[in-house]
Amino acid sequence: MTDKITKQLLEEGASEVGFSAVTPPPEYSALTNAVSIVVHLSDAVIDTVENGPTHTYFHHYRTVNAFLDRLALSAGLLLEKAGGKYVCVPASQSTQGFSGLFSHKQAAVRAGLGTIGKSALFLSNRFGPRVRLATVLTDLDLSAGFRPMSDKNPCKTCSICTKACPAMAISGKTFEEAGNHILDRAACSTHMKQAYQKIGRGAVCGICVSVCPVGKNR
Ligand code: SF4
Ligand code: SF4
Repeated sequence: MTDKITKQLLEEGASEVGFSAVTPPPEYSALTNAVSIVVHLSDAVIDTVENGPTHTYFHHYRTVNAFLDRLALSAGLLLEKAGGKYVCVPASQSTQGFSGLFSHKQAAVRAGLGTIGKSALFLSNRFGPRVRLATVLTDLDLSAGFRPMSDKNPCKTCSICTKACPAMAISGKTFEEAGNHILDRAACSTHMKQAYQKIGRGAVCGICVSVCPVGKNR
């Protein structure tokens, strides 16, 4: 089943696919297996994000999120055909403060696809933070596709995103040191809304994505 899902998603345009066991939200407590879907963002677009977002970056961000939602539905329908239940976690939707239904990053890290950077972004082993993620939760057993978690941590001796953040929102500590306190999400959000109101009403920034050396010059 995991080979079939991977093959279908890669053929449809996903960059990477992974599988993991997760703790789902209470309303979906039986759906303890996750499919993580990674889509690589355009390097040409990200490279233009220097001092703030561009209109093209915002459009690309939204298009990739919509594409991820479609890929997630495609995987979900396949899981359903195989007798499972599924729920697609929206690629980009905040339901409680700054959080969504379920952490895409948590599932992708558990699936061995990457780690969490000082910027609080998911860092793909292949593409760094230049990715967007989707997750499908299911009650089907996907353990045949589980891989070990990555032991790479490219942040240890780096502070590029910390220095580049115009909101001074990045603490400079690793996720292992500071957990969810590595980033001042309120400062990040306030800065985006104030500084980039004319681009997507302040929904994106992209500087910490663009400056990160991981995945930059592949
Ligand atoms: S810029 Fe450096 S510190 Fe920041 S996430 Fe990337 S590797 Fe880690
Ligand atoms: S998105 Fe922009 S403001 Fe927010 S942490 Fe990254 S660089 Fe800072």
